[in-house]
Amino acid sequence: MILYDANLRPPFRDFGILIPIAADKQKRVVDALRADSQAAPLLDRFLTVPDYAPVGSQEVGLVHSPVYTSMLYSDRLEETLMETFELTDEEGNYHRYDPSLAVRPLSDLRDAVLRYVAGVHQICRIALQSGHGFFLGGGTHHARFDTGSGFCLVNDAVIALRMLQRDGALKSAWIIDVDCHKGDGTACLTEGDETIRTLSIHMARGWPLDGPPYLPDGSLNPPYTPSDIDIPIEEHQASQYNRRLREGLDQLASYPTPDLALVLSGVDPWEHDELPSTSVLKLTAEQLFERDNLVYDFLKQRGLAHAYLTAGGYGARAWQLYIPLLRRMLLDWAAE
Ligand SMILES: [Zn+2]
Repeated sequence: MILYDANLRPPFRDFGILIPIAADKQKRVVDALRADSQAAPLLDRFLTVPDYAPVGSQEVGLVHSPVYTSMLYSDRLEETLMETFELTDEEGNYHRYDPSLAVRPLSDLRDAVLRYVAGVHQICRIALQSGHGFFLGGGTHHARFDTGSGFCLVNDAVIALRMLQRDGALKSAWIIDVDCHKGDGTACLTEGDETIRTLSIHMARGWPLDGPPYLPDGSLNPPYTPSDIDIPIEEHQASQYNRRLREGLDQLASYPTPDLALVLSGVDPWEHDELPSTSVLKLTAEQLFERDNLVYDFLKQRGLAHAYLTAGGYGARAWQLYIPLLRRMLLDWAAE
């Protein structure tokens, strides 16, 4: 199933936050599939609508610290949002933020984000039942135990998995993160937990790995917390990307088979991605499709239930990169 929530808009532009994400990214994906002669007839069967379980402070608290969770439900919410979305610079001036363009109050952003978490939870449930699912949204992998980070207020993937574990619907999962940026929050939140194994392939340098590995007190700088498998790709190593991803997946397969694989299928490694912090990694559209086939074939060959999230992808054309994989999935599902 492809889960599409027509009321879900990337939680930025409506709030005056000027991050280059097309507000109609999800709709464009669906429109493109409707215009595809082979995919269009399958959408009636495989496009589904939201049936969200509510996500509130209890669910956030499954993953995030009591202090951070209560901040999100206090009069410090706006301050927390300003920090997480980096809406001011070091001098206190607005950064990528123009409140005069907002059509909704900033305080609504928390519940807009939690609606995405509910979508991630729903697509995981669908995948556990049917074997597969693709949510047009989700993938906030930078939020850590006690803080949001990098446009990510809470960690939707880990919250959804913890909800499923709490409800006895899932014991173990893999998170396969092929977004351009390291899944650092996910690594922090699942460190030492054998029920959730993580693989992240990402830019070796640049945000969130732009600070020193160790803090002045000698402790590890949190973004450097290791995933179970990390595959850092240096600038100009794009040609090695898919070979190294294949090796990483083989390594992941040495862990016990989980109930579910959650894939953060960001398209921001694309060479024409418009977020400046993705510039270290420049894959062509062909390399990205090869990547997507590699992950998808890996999961299919093992008969692993899998749920996909769109994760990062910036600029007016990023939505196009999801189409080849979705088209392939639809044809596969119809042939089952
Ligand atoms: Zn990213």
